[in-house]
Parts: sequence; structure tokens; C-alpha cells
Amino acid sequence: SKELGRNSFQMYKASMNARSLERLSMQSRFQSALENGEFELYFQPLKCLASGRVMSLECLLRWQDPNLGMISPGQFIPLAEELGLIVKLDEWVIDRACAQLATWYQQGCEVRRLAINVSAQHLTQGDLVNTLKSALEKYDVMGRQIELELTESCFVGNFQKAKKVLGELKDLGISIALDDFGTGYSALSYLTKLPIDILKIDPSFIAKIPDEYGNSEVVSAIIAMAKALKLYVVAEGVEKPEQMQFLQKLGCHAMQGYLYCKPLSQAAWARFYQAEKLT
Ligand code: C2E
Ligand code: CA
Ligand code: CA
Ligand code: CA
Repeated sequence: SKELGRNSFQMYKASMNARSLERLSMQSRFQSALENGEFELYFQPLKCLASGRVMSLECLLRWQDPNLGMISPGQFIPLAEELGLIVKLDEWVIDRACAQLATWYQQGCEVRRLAINVSAQHLTQGDLVNTLKSALEKYDVMGRQIELELTESCFVGNFQKAKKVLGELKDLGISIALDDFGTGYSALSYLTKLPIDILKIDPSFIAKIPDEYGNSEVVSAIIAMAKALKLYVVAEGVEKPEQMQFLQKLGCHAMQGYLYCKPLSQAAWARFYQAEKLT
């Protein structure tokens, strides 16, 4: 009942927030938030476990509302999806991500790749391929500098279309990551039927290392399978040194999480990058 209490509190809190957001008339709030620069990209580095170097950065959206303060994507992404505004938001992120790569290039900061989260709706609505193609051209960025993170929900009931779109993205040199792996229903068939390059193990599995019985075996099986399929495997939500050691021992390719680095603003990333370069 303690659990129940906590859950209902969480639900209460979520619906309170949802309502207060709705009251502000989301549609117009989103539009003005975009125009007023209230959205900002944060960046979280993924560390290659073999070389110890940064392999890519994941773009994570932040919304700084002047009245409500920082609103987390866990709150506003589902709302944007519900209101049919997510494609617009995703397109904004794609444009900003490519602009950022161009800026870093000019500054001599060698970020090899940026990972962009793409909402499931974007594969059926909107024109993901052309959006990316124009952004790459506009900022003179190469496709191989971009990685798209998709979840299984992108493919459910949508397989043929998804397959076609992914093929076209691959033709642009873009890599495809399957996000939140292990939390869905039938990901195993997608792994062989779609051109997926990277597998991101959901943090819920990593959190249970090393304590929970059976969990470590599941993680080790996922890593072995990914490697057998020649996929690049990333563990998300790594918070403890024991977890990193465990992943390293299994030959997991990369890790992401607070242990290495939390999501950073552009300025904070610049400082992190300078410090990291000196070590
Ligand atoms: P995600 O793609 O699974 O992103 C990883 C989330 O885990 C991020 O939360 C990140 O801040 C958090 N995280 C990173 N390291 C750790 C750790 O060591 N421990 C824990 N407990 N958490 C960690 P965030 O930034 O709040 O994003 C939440 C979700 O919102 C994302 O989950 C993604 O599904 C969605 N999202 C974020 N940015 C975008 C975006 O630009 N576009 C779209 N469509 N979705 C986005
Ligand atoms: Ca992600
Ligand atoms: Ca994830
Ligand atoms: Ca997610």
C-alpha cells in the first residue's frame, strides 16, 4: 500500500501538472515557446568503454518556461504528441542539432556524432527524410554525423512504412538506434528485419545491477546477442562504478549515465570537453 500511495501521488502530481499546462492553452504556448527561445538542447555524452573517449552526444530537449520553470520532456513530449505538435518540435530539434554540429566544427570541437530522439508519430506524419536532407544541406553536415533514436512504438502497426523510411535514412549515411530496448514486446524480430545499427539497453535493467537475481544474466544475454548481430550496444542509466565494471567485462561498447556525465547545456558541455581533452 506504500507503493500504491506513491503511485497515486505520482498520478496526482502528473495530472496537476498536465492541467496547469493545459490551462495555458498548449497550442499557442508551444508556438510562442519556440519563437521566444524557451526550448533548449542539452547534450549527454556517451562514453566508449574500450577507448574511454566520447563517441557521441544525445540531444535532450529542455523547456524553460518563464512562469512554470523547467518542464521536463517526460511531461511535455507526451502532451506534444497528444496535441499533434511533436513533429514540429522534432523538426526544430533536427534543425538545432545540425546547426550545433556546424558551430562545433567551426570551433574545432570534434563531436563525431549527435543522436536525436524521434517520436513514433514522425514516421507516419511529417517527412522525416526530407527534413533531415534539407538540414544536412543547410548546415553542411554529413549524414554519418547523425544518429536517430527510435523506439519500438515507431514500428508497431507501421512496419512497411518504417522499413522504407529507415532505408532512405541509411542511404543518407544516418545511423539508427533502437532506444529503450527490452521494455517493448517483440523487438527481437525488428532487430533482424530493420536496418538497425545501435541498441540502447533500457536503464531499468542497468539499475538492477548487481543486486537483483537473474537481471545480470539478462543484461549479459542482451549484450551477447547484440554483438552476435553486429550491433553497437550502449547501456543507459549507468550510475554506479560496479555497473560500469560489469558492462566493461561483458564487452558492452558504450555507456551513458550520471556516473560519466549528466545532460549538459551547451556552455557546460564546452567546459566538460576542455577538461576531458586534458586528461
Ligand atoms: P530517453 O531518450 O530514454 O533519454 C534518456 C533519459 O534518461 C533522459 O531523460 C536523461 O536525462 C536520463 N538519464 C541519463 N542518464 C541517467 C542516469 O544515469 N540515471 C537516470 N535515472 N536517468 C538518466 P530526459 O532528458 O528527461 O528525457 C526523457 C525522455 O524524453 C527521453 O528518454 C525521450 O524519450 C524524450 N525526449 C527527450 N528529448 C527529446 C527530443 O528532443 N525529442 C523527442 N521526440 N523526445 C525527447
Ligand atoms: Ca533516447
Ligand atoms: Ca532510452
Ligand atoms: Ca525513452
